[in-house]
Amino acid sequence: MVKICCIGAGYVGGPTMAVIALKCPSFEVVVVDISVSRIAAWNSDQLPIYEPGLDEVVKQCRGKNLFFSTDIEKQVSEADIIFVSVNTPTKTQGLGAGKAADLTYWESAARMIADVSKSNKIVVEKSTVPVKTAEAIEKILTHNGRGIKYQILSNPEFLAEGTAIQDLFHPDRVLIGGRETPDGQKAIQSLKDVYAHWVPEDRIISTNLWSAELSKLAANAFLAQRISSVNAMSALCEATGADVSQVSHAVGKDTRIGPKFLNASVGFGGSCFQKDILNLVYICECNGLPEVANYWKQVIKINDYQKKRFVNRLVSSMFNTVSGKKISILGFAFKKDTGDTRETPAIDVCKGLLGDKAHLCIYDPQVTEDQIRRDLSMNKFDLDHPVHLQPMSPSSVKQVSVVWDAYEAAKDAHGVCILTEWDEFKTLDYQRIFDNMQKPAFVFDGRNIVNVDKLREIGFIVYSIGKPLDP
Ligand code: NAD
Repeated sequence: MVKICCIGAGYVGGPTMAVIALKCPSFEVVVVDISVSRIAAWNSDQLPIYEPGLDEVVKQCRGKNLFFSTDIEKQVSEADIIFVSVNTPTKTQGLGAGKAADLTYWESAARMIADVSKSNKIVVEKSTVPVKTAEAIEKILTHNGRGIKYQILSNPEFLAEGTAIQDLFHPDRVLIGGRETPDGQKAIQSLKDVYAHWVPEDRIISTNLWSAELSKLAANAFLAQRISSVNAMSALCEATGADVSQVSHAVGKDTRIGPKFLNASVGFGGSCFQKDILNLVYICECNGLPEVANYWKQVIKINDYQKKRFVNRLVSSMFNTVSGKKISILGFAFKKDTGDTRETPAIDVCKGLLGDKAHLCIYDPQVTEDQIRRDLSMNKFDLDHPVHLQPMSPSSVKQVSVVWDAYEAAKDAHGVCILTEWDEFKTLDYQRIFDNMQKPAFVFDGRNIVNVDKLREIGFIVYSIGKPLDP
């Protein structure tokens, strides 16, 4: 029986291993983590992450061929294939702070593998890592000189939160990078054999290690670049009277461009896009390519600009001040169908409004009050000045309330601000919301999901990104 172990039971490790266990019933799959509470949650009815379809997959396999454990060393030593799916956040201090990937968790996982392994292993980079990481990992693994052979593969994950299970069931491609030696090719084949249980052969691509590592950074950079491109266009639309939805539709009809990822919004978020582009920028700078670094930097700059632009538009529309005004924030997660708030644009928008002394009443169907307060208290890095910015002041904390209902959030508010494209926000009874708000009542749609004409008919003053302004 093939035994797979995955180090890291997060947004990637958990769902990915659950799907491997489901599709490969003859394998034993064990997911391990240093976080006792996370493993306990994976073993309970309340999984640690919200992801449509995940509960069903886990329920089908858990206890049969899928296990979650904190007994890391035992599981690693017994495994044939070890996936490493630990977090690789942006470094917060020291060399490369604010840009480079922090590989502390990866290094400690690699050292532990080297310490406990008693047989040859295939070690798979599932985390997103800088190009050339496998070289460093190889040195760490082989340094203990106990004669154990390791084959390192790069198998980056392309799932998107909110659609992770569907993405894993039907991936556009599975990418496997390895050494061009006979042993490297054999290891690639072993991993191909795992995915071949459900992924069509022509969707499993193999490359050299560095191409696979770099492809993940490149894919995220390209996706984020599309968002920044359409957001940059949205500013021009507002200045000229063009409508960004119409422009996106027309542009996306070109088969060379395609329609996906062309929705204007308040900006991209999530744990990956910004982190991976910063990492790309750092790698370019380290390789003496400042012009290339500047090109990618601009994607992040436009994203920051879009969030600031949104806050400025909101404040200027509300007669240049939101001081003491109640603003209802609908949605805090970085996108719909996830409870993940890492790098969500809601953090910057809320902080901007709090800076102008607004009172915020926040509702998100999947994000807890604790999480929101933690996020709003966090420090943040600035691209050009990698220093800590001021955290939220204690008085700002008091300006925030969190409720469990959109109507409650909007009650007596001066403005409603939509920051996540949850489906339920499309079908709210906006007449009821309008009736219970202060007048004039504003809607600021950061995701372009409301019917602007209908809302204007009700009596709202509406700002929708990249659309003609209220007459
Ligand atoms: P996460 O923070 O949700 O999970 C990482 C887990 O690793 C945590 O539970 C942490 O406790 C655990 N961990 C850290 N060090 C450990 C160690 N030494 N031993 C055991 N466990 C350890 O992160 P994530 O969102 O799952 O992302 C993991 C990686 O996958 C990152 O590199 C990320 O860039 C990449 N990725 C993420 C996504 C996504 O949508 N979240 C998509 C593709 C790729």
